[in-house]
Amino acid sequence: MIHYKTPEEIELIRESALIVSKTLGLIAKEIGPGVTPLYLDKLAEEFIRDHGAEPGFLGLYDFPNTLCMSLNEAVVHGIPNKRPLEEGDIISVDCGAKKNGFYGDHAYTFQIGEVAPEVKQLLKVTLECLYLGIEQAKSGNRIGDISYAIQQHAEHHGYGVVRELVGHGLGRHMHESPEVPNYGKRGKGPKVQNGLVIAIEPMINLGTRRVKQLNDGWTIITADRRPSAHFEHNVAIIDGKPEILSTFEYIEEVMAQKVM
Ligand code: MG
Ligand code: MG
Repeated sequence: MIHYKTPEEIELIRESALIVSKTLGLIAKEIGPGVTPLYLDKLAEEFIRDHGAEPGFLGLYDFPNTLCMSLNEAVVHGIPNKRPLEEGDIISVDCGAKKNGFYGDHAYTFQIGEVAPEVKQLLKVTLECLYLGIEQAKSGNRIGDISYAIQQHAEHHGYGVVRELVGHGLGRHMHESPEVPNYGKRGKGPKVQNGLVIAIEPMINLGTRRVKQLNDGWTIITADRRPSAHFEHNVAIIDGKPEILSTFEYIEEVMAQKVM
């Protein structure tokens, strides 16, 4: 069953989402060659708790950490480790926070130094997929319209669209109905209407769409071990239109300063 949110509930989800946005901004500041994922994970946990929230992933389905950090061929659900990041890596950082009983949950794939042009292009197109999907999250449409927009754009570029993992409703639970797949048909699936709050999160592979799970029981990697990108926003439907509750502006601010 889909739980449609009241305006008050949407504001609480926004508050949690913004804590995640700021946490990802902190990660943007600290991330770089030589830094370990585990160090960033500890920083994130401290930051979230300092903001009166709880890490959303820590302990959820027994996940051991605050951040999911998925390096290069890892798609999602990577466990932060002590291997220092290297120039040319990409890493998806997915973060959840819970405050006042409501979750925020979003993700950004960071580049470590200079990455290969084909990988840069994968990141650019995956981010475009995210916003094309969000554009479709409006009254009168169905979830399939979001899915279709994401799949079309990714496949147009020859990329693989992961089937096994999907976006989701968000609220008092991290994962609620409906599922929001990154592939699908126009006009199919649940209706998009006011009060719907969803996490839209394209997971797009440079090569095959096929994935497998590592024997750590968590990490999902591409079957051909080529890179994968992942971006996620939290979106509420208000007055028939999509409103993005999360923001990458804290990340973008840091990146603009790093370039200068
Ligand atoms: Mg997430
Ligand atoms: Mg999610």
